[in-house]
Amino acid sequence: MRLVVLGPPGAGKGTQSARLTQKYGIPQLSTGDMLRAAAAAGTPVGRRVKEIVDSGSLVPDEVVLKIIAERIERPDAARGFILDGFPRTVNQAKALDELLKAKNMRLDAVIELKVDESALLGRIEKRAKEMAAKGCAVRADDNPDAFKTRLAAYRAMTAPVSAYYARQRLLKTVDGMAPIDVVATQIDQAAESSVRI
Ligand code: ADP
Repeated sequence: MRLVVLGPPGAGKGTQSARLTQKYGIPQLSTGDMLRAAAAAGTPVGRRVKEIVDSGSLVPDEVVLKIIAERIERPDAARGFILDGFPRTVNQAKALDELLKAKNMRLDAVIELKVDESALLGRIEKRAKEMAAKGCAVRADDNPDAFKTRLAAYRAMTAPVSAYYARQRLLKTVDGMAPIDVVATQIDQAAESSVRI
């Protein structure tokens, strides 16, 4: 199973992707997590990545594409994967098509989580509070200023990715405002109705 989970910041991509990982026994490839790990490593590239991620802007395609190309080659991704936060631009989507084509692979489905924009900031602030209460590090981009930039980047660069996959007849839209387990059921139905293997 090869899935992409799409949606604005705070839509629940990470929550649902982690659950899909458990269900199907395939890895969650979160570019956000990979970029935060690169940033934490503190190399010169990592420091630049950190600055961009913390501001809420998108990291350049070539940086993300290199990370994804390497990650998809790892043995645990051979049976499938859940892409969480990637592709985020049409250029990334096209590059992913090429990467998969070269391996004789294709996506099974793209799940888009639809959430009212007015609910997103509240979700992100809630996550920041919960993380702080648990004594965990709060993401530097989970604040109103960076959120504004993330949402603007989503509207300008990522929303067109949905249309790209709709044209390929891969897009399945799920109501991300429903309770987590209801969203989960809808995703499972969408994923299972589209497996091509
Ligand atoms: P969210 O979708 O909730 O904003 P993510 O963890 O997916 O959170 O992404 C956090 C940040 O990481 C983004 O705002 C961006 O700076 C960077 N990022 C993640 N994935 C990509 C990508 N595919 N292309 C460019 N930048 C990315």
